[in-house]
Amino acid sequence: GAMRHLPYFCRGEVVKGFGRGSRELGIPTANFSEQVVESFPSDISTGIYYGWACVGNGDVHKMVLSIGWNPFYKNTKKSVETHIIHTFKEDFYGEILSIVIVGYIRPEKNFDSLEALISAIQEDIEEAKRQLDLPEHLKLKEDNFFHLPEGKIVNNH
Ligand code: ADP
Ligand code: MG
Repeated sequence: GAMRHLPYFCRGEVVKGFGRGSRELGIPTANFSEQVVESFPSDISTGIYYGWACVGNGDVHKMVLSIGWNPFYKNTKKSVETHIIHTFKEDFYGEILSIVIVGYIRPEKNFDSLEALISAIQEDIEEAKRQLDLPEHLKLKEDNFFHLPEGKIVNNH
């Protein structure tokens, strides 16, 4: 389920999400369109992953990603949401987001409180930062994938 498909390369437009208030939690998540999500392997595990991300032809940053069930479709479809570990000056809806998913952190969980959810996400972010500093993971930051012409949609090359 989780590791078999990794590293997973994906590129697609950033669309409006369900507005579950990720931004209010201080952790905005850039959502991929339904079409891009459908192109993911159907047996990829839901849960929290880490990897690298780049908006348009901008810099490559660390990210955490959630693959979950989309409440908009009554949990029959997945959603793929990337939180880039970087402070952007502006929103980037409509831009092309390129990601490589590198590793798996944990399955989806329900939390008793908002505080518990936020602290879990903060731990995920710290774990992602640590993992991505390992030489084998740093390598993928330099992958040619991030330097291909903007706009070209490539899923796992
Ligand atoms: P939505 O429900 O529309 O996905 P969010 O609250 O999850 O709304 O916010 C996501 C949007 O915030 C992204 O589409 C992007 O335009 C913007 N954004 C700003 N900074 C970041 C970041 N560091 N990581 C991801 N998205 C960001
Ligand atoms: Mg979002």
